[in-house]
Amino acid sequence: MEKEYLNLVYGELVRLSQDKNLFASVLSAVEDVYLRVEAAVSEAAGAANLAFECQRGCCLCCPPNVGVELFEILPLVASLNEGPTEVFADALEAAQREDTVGPGRISFAKMFLETSKEMPHCFLLDEEKACGIYNQRPLACRLHVSTSVAVCRQEKRPQFTPKFAADLDSRVKKIVDDFAASGHHLLTGLGGTMYRMLTYNPQQRRFGLNFFGQEIIFTRP
Ligand code: SF4
Ligand code: SF4
Repeated sequence: MEKEYLNLVYGELVRLSQDKNLFASVLSAVEDVYLRVEAAVSEAAGAANLAFECQRGCCLCCPPNVGVELFEILPLVASLNEGPTEVFADALEAAQREDTVGPGRISFAKMFLETSKEMPHCFLLDEEKACGIYNQRPLACRLHVSTSVAVCRQEKRPQFTPKFAADLDSRVKKIVDDFAASGHHLLTGLGGTMYRMLTYNPQQRRFGLNFFGQEIIFTRP
Protein backbone atom coordinates (compact mmCIF):
# COMPACT_ATOMS: atom_id res chain seq x y z
CA MET A 1 0.00 0.00 0.00
CA GLU A 2 1.45 3.36 -1.00
CA LYS A 3 2.42 5.66 1.84
CA GLU A 4 0.88 8.64 0.08
CA TYR A 5 -2.48 6.86 -0.12
CA LEU A 6 -2.33 5.78 3.53
CA ASN A 7 -1.60 9.38 4.51
CA LEU A 8 -4.67 10.48 2.57
CA VAL A 9 -6.85 7.93 4.35
CA TYR A 10 -5.35 8.84 7.71
CA GLY A 11 -6.07 12.52 7.03
CA GLU A 12 -9.69 11.70 6.17
CA LEU A 13 -10.12 9.65 9.36
CA VAL A 14 -8.70 12.43 11.52
CA ARG A 15 -11.02 14.91 9.79
CA LEU A 16 -14.00 12.65 10.55
CA SER A 17 -12.98 12.28 14.18
CA GLN A 18 -12.93 16.08 14.53
CA ASP A 19 -15.89 17.17 12.42
CA LYS A 20 -19.09 15.99 14.09
CA ASN A 21 -21.37 16.89 11.16
CA LEU A 22 -19.19 15.06 8.70
CA PHE A 23 -18.98 12.07 10.99
CA ALA A 24 -22.78 12.06 11.41
CA SER A 25 -23.19 11.98 7.63
CA VAL A 26 -20.78 9.03 7.33
CA LEU A 27 -22.61 7.14 10.09
CA SER A 28 -25.85 7.72 8.25
CA ALA A 29 -24.32 6.51 4.97
CA VAL A 30 -22.99 3.35 6.65
CA GLU A 31 -26.43 2.74 8.19
CA ASP A 32 -27.89 3.02 4.73
CA VAL A 33 -25.36 0.44 3.45
CA TYR A 34 -26.44 -1.94 6.20
CA LEU A 35 -30.15 -1.42 5.49
CA ARG A 36 -29.62 -2.04 1.80
CA VAL A 37 -27.56 -5.15 2.57
CA GLU A 38 -30.32 -6.54 4.79
CA ALA A 39 -32.80 -5.95 1.97
CA ALA A 40 -30.38 -7.62 -0.48
CA VAL A 41 -30.12 -10.69 1.75
CA SER A 42 -33.93 -10.96 1.87
CA GLU A 43 -34.29 -10.44 -1.86
CA ALA A 44 -31.56 -12.95 -2.76
CA ALA A 45 -33.09 -15.46 -0.32
CA GLY A 46 -36.53 -14.88 -1.85
CA ALA A 47 -35.16 -15.34 -5.38
CA ALA A 48 -33.51 -18.63 -4.35
CA ASN A 49 -36.49 -19.68 -2.25
CA LEU A 50 -34.35 -20.09 0.88
CA ALA A 51 -35.40 -19.86 4.52
CA PHE A 52 -32.72 -19.19 7.10
CA GLU A 53 -32.51 -20.70 10.57
CA CYS A 54 -30.44 -17.87 12.05
CA GLN A 55 -31.72 -16.47 15.32
CA ARG A 56 -30.66 -14.41 18.31
CA GLY A 57 -28.18 -16.17 20.57
CA CYS A 58 -27.12 -18.66 17.90
CA CYS A 59 -23.44 -17.82 18.26
CA LEU A 60 -21.83 -20.80 16.51
CA CYS A 61 -20.95 -18.50 13.63
CA CYS A 62 -19.37 -15.72 15.69
CA PRO A 63 -15.60 -16.27 15.56
CA PRO A 64 -13.08 -13.91 17.19
CA ASN A 65 -11.48 -12.91 13.89
CA VAL A 66 -14.28 -11.21 11.96
CA GLY A 67 -13.00 -9.20 9.00
CA VAL A 68 -14.21 -5.64 8.54
CA GLU A 69 -13.92 -2.85 6.01
CA LEU A 70 -12.47 0.40 7.33
CA PHE A 71 -15.82 2.21 7.23
CA GLU A 72 -17.39 -0.47 9.44
CA ILE A 73 -15.07 0.28 12.33
CA LEU A 74 -16.39 3.85 12.66
CA PRO A 75 -19.92 3.11 13.95
CA LEU A 76 -18.49 0.24 15.95
CA VAL A 77 -16.00 2.43 17.82
CA ALA A 78 -18.64 5.13 18.36
CA SER A 79 -21.05 2.54 19.69
CA LEU A 80 -18.49 0.93 22.04
CA ASN A 81 -17.70 4.39 23.39
CA GLU A 82 -21.33 4.62 24.50
CA GLY A 83 -20.67 1.61 26.74
CA PRO A 84 -19.44 -1.92 26.01
CA THR A 85 -21.35 -4.99 27.14
CA GLU A 86 -20.72 -6.23 30.67
CA VAL A 87 -18.78 -9.24 29.34
CA PHE A 88 -16.54 -7.05 27.25
CA ALA A 89 -16.00 -4.56 30.07
CA ASP A 90 -14.89 -7.45 32.33
CA ALA A 91 -12.50 -8.73 29.66
CA LEU A 92 -11.06 -5.25 29.30
CA GLU A 93 -10.56 -4.94 33.01
CA ALA A 94 -8.71 -8.27 33.11
CA ALA A 95 -6.59 -7.25 30.13
CA GLN A 96 -5.66 -3.99 31.84
CA ARG A 97 -4.29 -5.91 34.77
CA GLU A 98 -2.35 -8.33 32.61
CA ASP A 99 -1.33 -6.82 29.35
CA THR A 100 -1.13 -3.11 28.71
CA VAL A 101 1.11 -2.21 25.82
CA GLY A 102 2.25 1.00 24.23
CA PRO A 103 1.21 4.36 25.61
CA GLY A 104 -1.60 3.11 27.83
CA ARG A 105 -3.18 0.93 25.20
CA ILE A 106 -4.44 -2.60 25.44
CA SER A 107 -3.21 -5.23 23.03
CA PHE A 108 -6.47 -6.57 21.67
CA ALA A 109 -4.66 -9.03 19.45
CA LYS A 110 -3.07 -10.81 22.40
CA MET A 111 -6.16 -10.49 24.57
CA PHE A 112 -8.49 -11.96 22.01
CA LEU A 113 -6.21 -14.68 20.78
CA GLU A 114 -5.80 -15.86 24.34
CA THR A 115 -9.51 -15.61 25.03
CA SER A 116 -10.23 -17.55 21.88
CA LYS A 117 -8.34 -20.59 23.17
CA GLU A 118 -11.00 -21.03 25.83
CA MET A 119 -14.01 -19.58 24.05
CA PRO A 120 -13.61 -19.43 20.29
CA HIS A 121 -16.25 -16.77 19.87
CA CYS A 122 -16.38 -13.09 19.04
CA PHE A 123 -15.56 -10.79 21.96
CA LEU A 124 -18.65 -8.73 21.23
CA LEU A 125 -21.14 -11.39 22.25
CA ASP A 126 -23.07 -10.36 25.33
CA GLU A 127 -23.86 -12.38 28.45
CA GLU A 128 -26.76 -14.06 26.64
CA LYS A 129 -24.48 -15.05 23.74
CA ALA A 130 -26.22 -12.58 21.47
CA CYS A 131 -24.44 -9.90 19.48
CA GLY A 132 -23.67 -6.97 21.77
CA ILE A 133 -23.49 -4.50 18.86
CA TYR A 134 -26.27 -5.93 16.72
CA ASN A 135 -27.17 -2.72 14.87
CA GLN A 136 -23.52 -2.02 14.13
CA ARG A 137 -22.48 -5.57 13.27
CA PRO A 138 -20.28 -5.67 10.19
CA LEU A 139 -21.13 -6.90 6.71
CA ALA A 140 -19.42 -10.25 7.27
CA CYS A 141 -21.92 -10.97 10.05
CA ARG A 142 -24.92 -9.77 8.07
CA LEU A 143 -23.96 -12.01 5.17
CA HIS A 144 -23.31 -15.04 7.33
CA VAL A 145 -26.67 -16.77 7.03
CA SER A 146 -27.56 -20.41 6.94
CA THR A 147 -30.44 -22.67 6.02
CA SER A 148 -29.37 -25.21 8.61
CA VAL A 149 -28.17 -24.59 12.13
CA ALA A 150 -27.38 -28.33 12.31
CA VAL A 151 -24.85 -27.93 9.49
CA CYS A 152 -23.35 -24.90 11.23
CA ARG A 153 -23.01 -26.97 14.38
CA GLN A 154 -21.46 -29.99 12.66
CA GLU A 155 -19.35 -28.43 9.97
CA LYS A 156 -18.60 -25.04 11.53
CA ARG A 157 -19.77 -23.28 8.39
CA PRO A 158 -23.13 -21.99 7.19
CA GLN A 159 -25.16 -23.74 4.54
CA PHE A 160 -26.47 -22.02 1.42
CA THR A 161 -26.22 -22.57 -2.31
CA PRO A 162 -23.35 -21.24 -4.49
CA LYS A 163 -25.97 -19.55 -6.68
CA PHE A 164 -27.33 -17.64 -3.70
CA ALA A 165 -23.77 -16.69 -2.63
CA ALA A 166 -22.92 -15.38 -6.11
CA ASP A 167 -26.17 -13.42 -6.34
CA LEU A 168 -25.64 -11.90 -2.90
CA ASP A 169 -22.00 -11.06 -3.65
CA SER A 170 -22.91 -9.06 -6.71
CA ARG A 171 -25.73 -7.22 -4.89
CA VAL A 172 -23.44 -6.33 -1.98
CA LYS A 173 -20.61 -5.27 -4.27
CA LYS A 174 -22.98 -2.81 -5.94
CA ILE A 175 -24.02 -1.39 -2.54
CA VAL A 176 -20.43 -0.92 -1.37
CA ASP A 177 -19.45 0.56 -4.75
CA ASP A 178 -22.32 3.06 -4.43
CA PHE A 179 -21.08 3.99 -0.95
CA ALA A 180 -17.54 4.50 -2.25
CA ALA A 181 -18.79 6.55 -5.20
CA SER A 182 -20.77 8.86 -2.93
CA GLY A 183 -17.59 10.47 -1.61
CA HIS A 184 -16.42 7.69 0.69
CA HIS A 185 -13.89 5.89 -1.49
CA LEU A 186 -11.11 6.48 1.06
CA LEU A 187 -13.08 4.42 3.58
CA THR A 188 -13.35 1.33 1.39
CA GLY A 189 -10.73 -1.11 0.19
CA LEU A 190 -8.81 -1.12 3.48
CA GLY A 191 -9.68 -3.34 6.36
CA GLY A 192 -8.60 -6.18 8.58
CA THR A 193 -9.74 -8.26 11.50
CA MET A 194 -11.92 -6.45 13.98
CA TYR A 195 -9.69 -7.15 16.96
CA ARG A 196 -6.61 -5.77 15.22
CA MET A 197 -8.38 -2.59 14.16
CA LEU A 198 -9.70 -1.68 17.61
CA THR A 199 -7.82 -0.08 20.48
CA TYR A 200 -8.81 0.82 24.00
CA ASN A 201 -7.23 3.55 26.06
CA PRO A 202 -7.80 2.68 29.74
CA GLN A 203 -6.80 6.13 31.01
CA GLN A 204 -9.33 7.90 28.83
CA ARG A 205 -11.72 4.93 28.88
CA ARG A 206 -12.10 5.32 25.15
CA PHE A 207 -12.15 2.93 22.23
CA GLY A 208 -10.42 3.89 19.05
CA LEU A 209 -9.45 2.77 15.59
CA ASN A 210 -5.95 1.37 15.27
CA PHE A 211 -4.88 2.70 11.88
CA PHE A 212 -1.42 1.26 11.27
CA GLY A 213 -0.37 2.03 14.83
CA GLN A 214 -2.11 5.43 15.02
CA GLU A 215 -5.04 5.60 17.43
CA ILE A 216 -8.05 7.64 16.29
CA ILE A 217 -11.03 8.00 18.61
CA PHE A 218 -14.58 8.39 17.34
CA THR A 219 -17.60 9.32 19.41
CA ARG A 220 -21.19 9.58 18.23
CA PRO A 221 -22.19 13.22 17.54
S1 SF4 B 1 -25.13 -18.84 10.36
FE1 SF4 B 1 -25.58 -20.75 11.47
S2 SF4 B 1 -24.66 -20.48 13.50
FE2 SF4 B 1 -24.83 -18.46 12.56
S3 SF4 B 1 -26.81 -17.63 13.31
FE3 SF4 B 1 -27.16 -18.62 11.31
S4 SF4 B 1 -27.80 -20.70 11.83
FE4 SF4 B 1 -26.80 -19.86 13.66
S1 SF4 C 1 -19.95 -8.66 15.73
FE1 SF4 C 1 -21.77 -9.62 16.60
S2 SF4 C 1 -22.65 -10.90 14.94
FE2 SF4 C 1 -20.52 -10.38 14.40
S3 SF4 C 1 -19.27 -12.08 15.11
FE3 SF4 C 1 -19.29 -10.53 16.74
S4 SF4 C 1 -20.98 -11.07 18.10
FE4 SF4 C 1 -21.26 -12.21 16.15
